[in-house]
Amino acid sequence: MPDTAISIKGLTKTYAASGRSEAKVALHGLDLEVPRGSIFGLLGPNGAGKSTTINILAGLVTKTSGTVEIWGFDQDRNPRQSRAAIGVVPQELNLDPFFTPRAAMEVQAGLYGVPKSQRRTEEILSAVGLLDKADAYARSLSGGMRRRLLIAKALVHTPAVLVLDEPTAGVDIELRQMLWAYVRELNRQGTTIILTTHYLEEAQEMCDRIAIINHGRLVACDDTSNLLSRMNAKTLVITPESAPTGNLILPEGVTLDTRPNGALALTYSPGETPAEALLDAVRAANIHIRDIATEEPDLEDVFVSITQAQ
Ligand code: ADP
Repeated sequence: MPDTAISIKGLTKTYAASGRSEAKVALHGLDLEVPRGSIFGLLGPNGAGKSTTINILAGLVTKTSGTVEIWGFDQDRNPRQSRAAIGVVPQELNLDPFFTPRAAMEVQAGLYGVPKSQRRTEEILSAVGLLDKADAYARSLSGGMRRRLLIAKALVHTPAVLVLDEPTAGVDIELRQMLWAYVRELNRQGTTIILTTHYLEEAQEMCDRIAIINHGRLVACDDTSNLLSRMNAKTLVITPESAPTGNLILPEGVTLDTRPNGALALTYSPGETPAEALLDAVRAANIHIRDIATEEPDLEDVFVSITQAQ
């Protein structure tokens, strides 16, 4: 088995000009490796090229140049094997309203050439909590149930890599937790997961590795913990007893932000300024501390700092 689940090299995509719109370069030579067994987040602002990348992986969009290997199979040289190695859960809830979940699963299995004896329709529907709806028309399913059916469909051929495009957009918290629990379980059983999400908190919690793309280029790719520590910034939040009267003179490199509730947020690099120096400065300004807390940077901070620097 390969170490990398997905290997993308020099991937470019130019959408041809049409009618009113000019030709658009969506990907400028993207290089990306997704380790086998990971839960990998593909993040970026709107228009960054995430869907284009995912649609190329899914075989829905043809690349302009570059190579894509899925589970070691080159998409051009081994189209059948590379397609069999991946399942994609699309963003849109595009289901045939007159199909029942059972029928939708059977059709999908047929498309992937899964022999009848190897089909796991009931097992998969049960895993996503839809077994009792197996014979209901898709049009009678709620949005959350449709989303689960899309995941079930992507699993019919037991793909090694499962790609989820914004799987929890517009999904309520309860269902979101259920989906993530199931995705984690699939990952524990060996499926490599790639997901895009607008919820950075969710990406931070779920993904062990994250790539950030912007304007069709890779701008960061690292383990989530490394990305977070890269910020090398902490915030000390001090709530004073009363409005400060003294002059607060801060060590170099420390920034001060006054919160709406009057708290003083001091952002510093722990490697350069010890927290003690901040407390000394606060005491020297005759500020009496009512409360004190520290805040670590989160993925949102990393994301903003990386994409805004572009
Ligand atoms: P993301 O998923 O990160 O929001 P997309 O991959 O959808 O980004 O889009 C990348 C860029 O390609 C955007 O500028 C978008 O307008 C353009 N684009 C996407 N799809 C098409 C298309 N079918 N035709 C022309 N341009 C497109």
